[in-house]
Amino acid sequence: MRRTTPRILILGGGFAGIAVASRLERRLRAGEASITLLSRENFSVFTPMLPEVCSGALEVRHIVTPIRSQLRRTTFVLADVGGVDIAARTVQLTHALTGERETLPFDHLVIALGSETSTFGVPGVREHSFALKTLEDAALLRNRLVWLLEAADATRDAAERRRLLTITIVGGGFTGVETAGEIVELFASVVRFYPNIAPSEVRVVLVEAETALLPGLPSRMGAYAARRLAARGVVVKTGSGVTRADAQALELQHGERIETATIIWSAGVTPSPAVAGASLPLTKRGAVIVESDLSVRAHAGIWAVGDCAAIPEEDGGVYPPTAQHAIREGPLLADNIVAVLRGRPTRPFRFRSLGMMASLGARKAVAQLPGNRVLTGFPAWFLWRTYYLLRLPGLDRKVRVAFDWTLDMVFPRDVAELRVYRRLPSEVP
Ligand SMILES: Cc1cc2nc3c(=O)[nH]c(=O)nc-3n(C[C@H](O)[C@H](O)[C@H](O)COP(=O)(O)OP(=O)(O)OC[C@H]3O[C@@H](n4cnc5c(N)ncnc54)[C@H](O)[C@@H]3O)c2cc1C
Repeated sequence: MRRTTPRILILGGGFAGIAVASRLERRLRAGEASITLLSRENFSVFTPMLPEVCSGALEVRHIVTPIRSQLRRTTFVLADVGGVDIAARTVQLTHALTGERETLPFDHLVIALGSETSTFGVPGVREHSFALKTLEDAALLRNRLVWLLEAADATRDAAERRRLLTITIVGGGFTGVETAGEIVELFASVVRFYPNIAPSEVRVVLVEAETALLPGLPSRMGAYAARRLAARGVVVKTGSGVTRADAQALELQHGERIETATIIWSAGVTPSPAVAGASLPLTKRGAVIVESDLSVRAHAGIWAVGDCAAIPEEDGGVYPPTAQHAIREGPLLADNIVAVLRGRPTRPFRFRSLGMMASLGARKAVAQLPGNRVLTGFPAWFLWRTYYLLRLPGLDRKVRVAFDWTLDMVFPRDVAELRVYRRLPSEVP
């Protein structure tokens, strides 16, 4: 019987999936295996810059890189994963634009589907809050922030204006902290265009259930972030979780009700549920449990990586779901597939975190450096910008972002409220 070329199928075009495919392209000899990558968007998003898209400091397209321009030897499929049949070794997919369904066979399957926003079932949150996880979320939020300035400027009702001008961010991790800092920057830049709004009327509230911001990081970082944000006018509320949300307000555990028209939920993520029915070993949160070489035990040729995988650390925990880890797990996973194809032993994933950084707006940031040292203020902000600019994929994207940042130092942010329709009138049912 003629042997076919092994088929490697990667699900997800985020940090992890792209890292796997790029390394496979470099390592595989011509004809050694075929690579297919399937994802629901034809670009990858540089998530650390999403808060700046939401505040208008960066243009929406500048922080995404087309998958087709990043990968040359990989077949790209723009589709949604419907399910995985481990026994039949196939993936069911629905093409994102045509809705056509198809089944793709594989020999090696890499699950790199990331995570999605989790509201932890808190009543009303799913219906009444904005997420900040995808590019669409950031673009939607940016328009929302401009919309509410227009609405507040137009209303004569003082209580309604106060509610419109109260933006509440839930989650004091790095996403929430950065978003709060960025929104303050946006309002500081543009509120002068709205004669009926006094700058003091704008209220940005940051809510964190733990007793300090940036939980899990050195306490000095959280304390510095709280001080800096408070100095910029952000109302920081720690030690009280959210109990419910509705169209008018957000309620906290200790009974407070914050009248707000915009709730931004950045309190947590949960692994992608797309492979939940595939009878793979999953944690309670739904992450695929893998061995230290990123393979799934007792399922030869099945691998998982990034936010959707529970990858064992040496000390018994699991690696955190960050881009920093995903971009290092991906190449190791690719090397291990190549090792299996060549009949060689695989290697375990071992990595010590380089630290975390959070930009706070107004050219200030806070950074955890190796050895648990903490850097604050302008040097940390400079480090944040330099590091992430270098990490952004694609020279053209780097140049565009550098230009956006330069222009942002000179000009106020854009308050064009865009209503962009996706379909032609004839296509609307
Ligand atoms: C606002 C924000 C800021 C962040 N800042 C930082 C930071 O500063 N530093 C850091 O280290 N980490 C940061 N992170 C975390 C980081 O983004 C994630 O850890 C990282 O994206 C994980 O990579 P991944 O490839 O596992 O998942 P993702 O990057 O989420 O990629 C998953 C891919 O799978 C696709 N997909 C999902 N479901 C389906 C489906 N059913 N069908 C088809 N395709 C699907 C998605 O479209 C996506 O392309 C941030 C996250 C956010 C939201």
